[in-house]
Amino acid sequence: MTAIDDRRLVALTTELVSHPSLPGAEGNVAEAIKQAITQLDFDEVSIDELGNVVAIRRAESGSGTLLFDGHIDTVSPGNHDLWSGDPHTVIERDGKLIGRGVADMKGAIAAMMLGLSSVPRSELSADIVLSCSVCEEAVEGVALGTVLDHNPADIVIIAESTECELAIGQRGRGELLVETFGSAAHSSTPHLGVNSVKHMAKVISRLSEMEPPHHPRLGYGVMEVTDVKSNPYPGLSVIPEHCAATFDRRLLVGEMEDDILASLQPALDEVRAEIPELQVQVSIPRTDVTTFPGTPLIAPKFSPAWLFEEDHPAVRAALDALEKGNVGTTTRTYSFCTNGSESAGRRNIPTLGYGPGSEEQAHRVDEYVEIEQLVRAAQGYAALARGLGAGIV
Ligand SMILES: [Zn+2]
Repeated sequence: MTAIDDRRLVALTTELVSHPSLPGAEGNVAEAIKQAITQLDFDEVSIDELGNVVAIRRAESGSGTLLFDGHIDTVSPGNHDLWSGDPHTVIERDGKLIGRGVADMKGAIAAMMLGLSSVPRSELSADIVLSCSVCEEAVEGVALGTVLDHNPADIVIIAESTECELAIGQRGRGELLVETFGSAAHSSTPHLGVNSVKHMAKVISRLSEMEPPHHPRLGYGVMEVTDVKSNPYPGLSVIPEHCAATFDRRLLVGEMEDDILASLQPALDEVRAEIPELQVQVSIPRTDVTTFPGTPLIAPKFSPAWLFEEDHPAVRAALDALEKGNVGTTTRTYSFCTNGSESAGRRNIPTLGYGPGSEEQAHRVDEYVEIEQLVRAAQGYAALARGLGAGIV
């Protein structure tokens, strides 16, 4: 088993957590990661146009490229008073680290840095790319896409939390913007206008009745309304002329933008039959974030699902590699969405998930990860670097 210095791993995780890094504001943590990587045994490290930190370690022999990805942005800690301490100062207690991003996913970044650099080059089965990517919390997959454009990979490992089990898939996530259009009038004479909010109420009610599709391994393609906004807002004695609602739709394997938009039409046609003057439109909104180097990141809010079978060569090789590294495990799936939506969902590159800690810790107050999980993950990354090369896929 690879020897990992647990105190060094704790110190590195603590350092990364000390730099707040909301999406588009990862500059300080990116620089800290780059500096730390220059002290480790990597061949190259650079920061690309979106701010992704990309490090490369070349194998002496071996074939192809194995890419490990973790995101370096976090969600906001919210109200600091609800935390046991400052969310950006790691607290160590009962074998756990507590702080914003320890589990999602700066602990995993530290574990990859130390685990991947611990393997002698003569034992690497492929060239290693370590992708520390930005803006995952704003939109999954897009920043990893840029890393993959520059560094084509044969297999991708997503380091989001799996409790050191092997994730073989996930549901995707798409946002749907539903808009109804009416016409304004004074609310004392509503018959002179068309009330877009009343129409939206019918639309939401009908869409909420839709039966979600089901996948035996990934579960239901649930759809839930997450916000509603009328215009003008606030409305003062006026019939609202425009109403917009956002739906979050969890996606199953193979469901792409056009499929989802088309799946809503029969339900909308029913509402149209009931309200002939209904004007309704559905679209997929776009994320528009300015990354810290200044490059805009614009992408549809649509991250597809993916799943590899238990007998896929990459899955079998990964399970074997982890077994050989004395960190043997079984398969599972993610319940949330990850950057694997890009590598597997859009590019069909064999992709697996492996990371420390529980996905339930993501986005929580007093988010924590066990130090034992960080060490085990670092050993797992080392084992995967020894056992996964282009030869197996
Ligand atoms: Zn995450």
